[in-house]
Amino acid sequence: MLTTSCTLAHDQPTDTLPVLATYLHTRLGTPPPRPLAAISLDLDDTLIDTGASLAHGVRAAAQLAATLTSRVDPGALIDAYHAAFAAHWRHPAAAGTGGLQDLRRRVWRTALRSVGVTLDTSDLDRLVRTCVAAQLAMIAPDPELRSLLRELTDLAPVAVCSNGHRSSVQRKLDKAALTEFVTAIICGPDIGLAKPDPGLFHACSRALNVDPARCLHIGDSWHADVQGALAAGMVPIWITRQPAATAPRPPTVPSYPTVTHAIRDLLQLFSPAPPERSCG
Ligand SMILES: [Mg+2]
Repeated sequence: MLTTSCTLAHDQPTDTLPVLATYLHTRLGTPPPRPLAAISLDLDDTLIDTGASLAHGVRAAAQLAATLTSRVDPGALIDAYHAAFAAHWRHPAAAGTGGLQDLRRRVWRTALRSVGVTLDTSDLDRLVRTCVAAQLAMIAPDPELRSLLRELTDLAPVAVCSNGHRSSVQRKLDKAALTEFVTAIICGPDIGLAKPDPGLFHACSRALNVDPARCLHIGDSWHADVQGALAAGMVPIWITRQPAATAPRPPTVPSYPTVTHAIRDLLQLFSPAPPERSCG
């Protein structure tokens, strides 16, 4: 009986696969790549489209603010919020280990002040609650991502490494139905560190009980995720969800538009080869 191999149809990208294979051969061992030891994943704008869900939350809170005082222009407050939010996340470690509620109040207070408005703590907390609730309402399970993560966790343990507060990270993971795939959750505020500090990545590799050099890190921030992982001795993969907002970078790290694209290629490379099939 004549038996030949055949190609099964699938929608996995092919142009990025050789680039990733060469990169991982170089970083993990040549050839073949050693089995994956562990994978660290950023949360916001990597596993979850935080930009879209946060924008929804901020819009809802700004509309509430406009009902509390006629001095609020919702559009101006939305812009002010995003400016205050971005200012915080440029130096997240500077916030120390303060509580999440204090941080949320501080960002909203800063935004309101910049549009010339002050609210009492009760109304400020109403904005915070409205923003969080509307943001979380936008987060829903992605069946494809769940399926890919289930396959990935058959190959290696997966951790989330985030600069966010634990309670927020956990709620987002729960809403996205991703918690069951995560072996460890490492949150910067818990230990007073923030990516790109290598200490946070090393806390992640310790939690996964692997050498950092054998741990991949997948994240959307060139500065926090890619440069931080490199400084920690990990193997980064860049998610370019918002490439226009990121500084030019050398083409030395594979990039993907979404985490699902990256995981598809990792599964292609590292999943055991299927048995040869007859095309007859
Ligand atoms: Mg991120």
